[in-house]
Amino acid sequence: MREAVAQGTDLGREAKRYMDAGDLVPDAVVIGMIRERLSPGADNFLLDGFPRTIAQAQALDQMLGELDAPLDAVLALDVSREELVRRLAGRWICRTCSRSWHEVFAPHVRDDACVAVGECDLYQRPDDRADAVENRLTVYAESTEPLIAYYAERGLLRAINGEQSQEQVYGQIASAVTGN
Ligand SMILES: [Zn+2]
Repeated sequence: MREAVAQGTDLGREAKRYMDAGDLVPDAVVIGMIRERLSPGADNFLLDGFPRTIAQAQALDQMLGELDAPLDAVLALDVSREELVRRLAGRWICRTCSRSWHEVFAPHVRDDACVAVGECDLYQRPDDRADAVENRLTVYAESTEPLIAYYAERGLLRAINGEQSQEQVYGQIASAVTGN
């Protein structure tokens, strides 16, 4: 989605309006993009941030049915609302080297990676600004949270405690996707 936005395609410009406000991009637009990316034979992939609505999940079921590539697991990273606001509101991205930094967790340093390509140029994603973050969380509760029950009923849900160290979170994700 962010690639389409960066390229300034019609679809990208349409999607950007919703994303900047912290709103969900309409199902038909998102589903169309995913359909283009999922190809026969490619059954080793991880979808991050999709599906975000029940309608998207149903469309995904249909697409994966056609590809004969059923879902192995659905990861739900549990993080409190308070902690989410803290993380999102402090995030800054460098236009030059594309890395993301955080006011508290990963303060910006100018190193060889930046120097090689030029000056660092930090900006805050519009949907990471405080008012958009609040809206994103409200939209999540209304539209995305129902997916937890949707996938739990099928025995696919793997709950990950997202408030541990990065290494612990990574370890839990790795064992959830490999089944170990
Ligand atoms: Zn940089």
